[in-house]
Amino acid sequence: MKRTEQGVGESKTIFDKCLDFTEAEEARQTGIYPFFKPIERSDGTKVYIGGREMLMAGSNNYLGLANDPRLKEAARKAVERYGTSCSGSRFMNGTLDLHEELEAQLAEFVGKEASLCFSTGYQTNLGAISALIGRGEHILTDKLNHASIMDGIFLSIGIHKQINLHRFRHNNMTELEDLLKKIPAKEPKMIVTDGVFSMEGDFAELPEMKRLSDKYNAGLYLDEAHAIGVAGENGRGTAEHYNDFNLADVVMCTFSKSFGSLGGFVAGDARVIDYIKHFARPLIFSASMPPANIAAAMKALEIIKTEKDRIARIQQIAVKMVDGFKSIGFNVGNACTPIVPLIIGDYDKTFMFWKAMFERGIYVNPVISPAVPPNRSLIRTSYMAIHTDAELDWFLEVAGEEGRKIGII
Ligand code: PMP
Repeated sequence: MKRTEQGVGESKTIFDKCLDFTEAEEARQTGIYPFFKPIERSDGTKVYIGGREMLMAGSNNYLGLANDPRLKEAARKAVERYGTSCSGSRFMNGTLDLHEELEAQLAEFVGKEASLCFSTGYQTNLGAISALIGRGEHILTDKLNHASIMDGIFLSIGIHKQINLHRFRHNNMTELEDLLKKIPAKEPKMIVTDGVFSMEGDFAELPEMKRLSDKYNAGLYLDEAHAIGVAGENGRGTAEHYNDFNLADVVMCTFSKSFGSLGGFVAGDARVIDYIKHFARPLIFSASMPPANIAAAMKALEIIKTEKDRIARIQQIAVKMVDGFKSIGFNVGNACTPIVPLIIGDYDKTFMFWKAMFERGIYVNPVISPAVPPNRSLIRTSYMAIHTDAELDWFLEVAGEEGRKIGII
């Protein structure tokens, strides 16, 4: 790699910053580097890392379907019929009958006219948001919305040069209304929110947002990545949680969580989806979702529709873990879903606690800035419908022991 030569004036090479970045290597040396740990094998709630069996308490595989034999079989069959890749964009040679079949089923599931699949959930937000928000238009976004929503906004700014971005404090509906009031009534606007927040595990104030979106004539875009399969009696997400399916105009979700696959979709009125189809750059300029992933997502949808006990179980586990952690003194914020953050605040103690868990054989995720505000470092724990009570009780016991030693509870 080129490095600035000593004495060659002030000029720097593009790679100097890479050579100056030493934090990750320092953390590796001291054994507290928690990222990019290769998993050697996955088996339901257990994973194998460094030859050691560990309890997985940090996956988004909420319904436990990523290892389900029925999804594996569906993926295998799709590979036999269509191959391993579509080798092209949806626009060109990359649309399969399977894509359209899945899109029709998803639209029906979320109660919308049409839907459109992207290769990842991240690309779904990038594509749908950047297509919908045009020059001079307004977007209002919760400060804790997922990074892919923010990146969709950045892409919109890149494409249209001037859009109006308004950020409101997490779930603060007074602040949202104040922002809406200031936008001239005639100017197009859209409110964007996660349904279940990915780090806090709480719900958006969707009914109030809907009231405001009606009052101020704003579109309402809902990210259901952590809600479909998890929230509502039938796993239909945040809208079902609030018993009203007409809350959002546009709904998106990923397949990398409850669906045990990879990809994402956006759903809404047929004309809106057709527009996104023709203007979403991440859809146009990237290869389409591969056959195995479509087939796995389709099988998962069938299971979500038919196996209600899985949904009931994940909701029961959410209550158990929120109550369990609270009762031993952890701060879990307002969590009420299978995402249960253990909010520690202090950066070093967060890594110490992660390390203690890892050594005891429990896989959880440390989350630091910029994924959360700088003073809100946390351990993100998340659960699967296939976790047993014995596994969860053991986790609570170990977390209590280690939390007391480190002085965080
Ligand atoms: N939206 C939210 C709320 C998410 O949490 C995530 C991923 N964590 C995404 C979108 C992106 O989904 P994917 O990982 O499937 O690309």
